Amino acid sequence: MVSVRDTRHAQMFPVFTASEIATLERFGEERLYRDGEYLARAGEKGDAAFVIKSGRVVVTGQGHEGPIAIHDPGSFSGEISQLSGRPFLVDAQAEGDTKVLVLNSERLRHVLVSEAELGERIMRALILRRVGLLEDGVGGPVIVGPAENGGVLRLQGFLSRNGHPHQRLDPENDASARTMLEGVPEDEWPLVICPSGDILHNPSEDQLARCIGLVRAIDPNRLYDVAIVGAGPAGLAAAVYAGSEGLSAIVLDCRSFGGQAGASARIENYLGFPTGISGMALMARAFNQAQKFGVEMAIPDEVQRLSREEDGFTLHLANDEILRARAIIIATGARYRSLGLNNLSGFDGTSVHYWASPLEAKLCSAQEVALVGAGNSAGQAAVYLAANAKKVWLLARRGLEATMSRYLIDRIAAQPNIEVLTKTEITALEGENGILQAVRWRDGDGEESRHEMRHLFLFIGADPNTDWLGASGLKLCEKGFIATDDFASDAARPLETNIPGIFAIGDVRSGSVKRVAAAVGEGAQVVAQLHSYLAAQQAVPA
Ligand SMILES: Cc1cc2nc3c(=O)[nH]c(=O)nc-3n(C[C@H](O)[C@H](O)[C@H](O)COP(=O)(O)OP(=O)(O)OC[C@H]3O[C@@H](n4cnc5c(N)ncnc54)[C@H](O)[C@@H]3O)c2cc1C
Repeated sequence: MVSVRDTRHAQMFPVFTASEIATLERFGEERLYRDGEYLARAGEKGDAAFVIKSGRVVVTGQGHEGPIAIHDPGSFSGEISQLSGRPFLVDAQAEGDTKVLVLNSERLRHVLVSEAELGERIMRALILRRVGLLEDGVGGPVIVGPAENGGVLRLQGFLSRNGHPHQRLDPENDASARTMLEGVPEDEWPLVICPSGDILHNPSEDQLARCIGLVRAIDPNRLYDVAIVGAGPAGLAAAVYAGSEGLSAIVLDCRSFGGQAGASARIENYLGFPTGISGMALMARAFNQAQKFGVEMAIPDEVQRLSREEDGFTLHLANDEILRARAIIIATGARYRSLGLNNLSGFDGTSVHYWASPLEAKLCSAQEVALVGAGNSAGQAAVYLAANAKKVWLLARRGLEATMSRYLIDRIAAQPNIEVLTKTEITALEGENGILQAVRWRDGDGEESRHEMRHLFLFIGADPNTDWLGASGLKLCEKGFIATDDFASDAARPLETNIPGIFAIGDVRSGSVKRVAAAVGEGAQVVAQLHSYLAAQQAVPA
């Protein structure tokens, strides 16, 4: 496989000129590391970037034979985790006495923002290095368990969605994995070995995220200018504009960054990407961009309630933490609908899927799968899965014409291994222990048939994520989306809700266009309105 190391090596490991190093000297401090001394240890926190002035730094990581990188004078050691002060994913060690210029995360962000060209080269290198770690499966936690185990799939999905490298040891082909699992009851599988050395037994996503430093404790005394709930395209766009315009901002998401867009196999109608782009790639760029502007990320962190205070609002999180902000932007989007079948939840995440990422595509390789839905997301997923699967049954209650774009209908028609069945409904799922064995469906003539398969995909729409707003006093429309019409305390703030200082953007907003571009547009728009609200607040005499 061609890797990013082969194709973009020079961009991944730039060598700075003397004048660029002189510029960086304004931001960093010089430090001497003795031969063998560590600049960075996986799982620990520390400085963000080390520019080598003399000597050498060797980077190694779990899961990689030999050095991952060797940095000589003019090069720099660093990875995107450190931009936001998260733990190192790899070890970096001095070879010979080594003099470096050290930049902490705040200083590194200053370079990225204030030194456009140099900043661009550094940012690109940081992103490519993360891509390299993901490609090689180097660094991050080690998941020990069989490939089809529900917990393994759940945790791998969580780490992949968050763009976090990890490795897996399978007892099928790894003796050390068999030894580790010996005597551990199966309901405690998988084991997860964190870079800190902690071992977790079948952890929740939240436990894993805390153990690997993805999410940190929130300071309850800090008053942010704005808290953005939801890290889909709308929330991330708001974060980029808020951060770049100097507001102190924090983004919370209960799952991962990217929202529904992050689950899209290929977005082909987003402006500026004529060949299309995977939702995950687009969202990862936005996520990194927001962090470049100093926006804090609290992912996964679920907001359960919001309350009004004298100086702003308090968000109450599922882990009992609280967060205070002058204003709130709600960008919680929508959640996928499921089918009303009794035993369906038992297959969620293992055999029933609501998105089609490379992980699911691999699971379905050379198999027959069924996909329910008639919208664009269903069409995209069917085409994507068909590249790997033996056959994709596309099941819809009505014809596709009313709900799917013409280009997708044409593409499906041209794909020999996709069979479209309209007026068809799933009637039963068969299987046990989370593993689907067969799906039954009834076609337009009332004929029921049974089809053996391991994986079923549901793309049947979404409901707004507004349950958590029950006691907030926010006005919702009859379908549960947040209303922003007619309430604005100031006509210049059309995205404000009936509660001044709380804004709603993206799919969660009543009347919004359910598209990535629309969500991003509202994210940009809301920040101007936020400035207007904050300015008005400051103008109010105490
Ligand atoms: C498979 C698929 C393919 C698609 N393809 C396209 C396409 O090709 N082109 C296009 O334009 N659009 C496409 N869409 C639609 C597009 O993705 C959405 O319109 C867009 O993502 C909406 O963005 P959003 O930020 O408003 O909400 P979302 O993307 O839904 O993000 C909301 C976020 O809020 C988080 N959240 C919810 N509740 C809470 C809570 N209580 N606390 C903390 N966080 C919370 C969620 O975890 C989620 O990450 C697709 C959608 C899907 C599902």
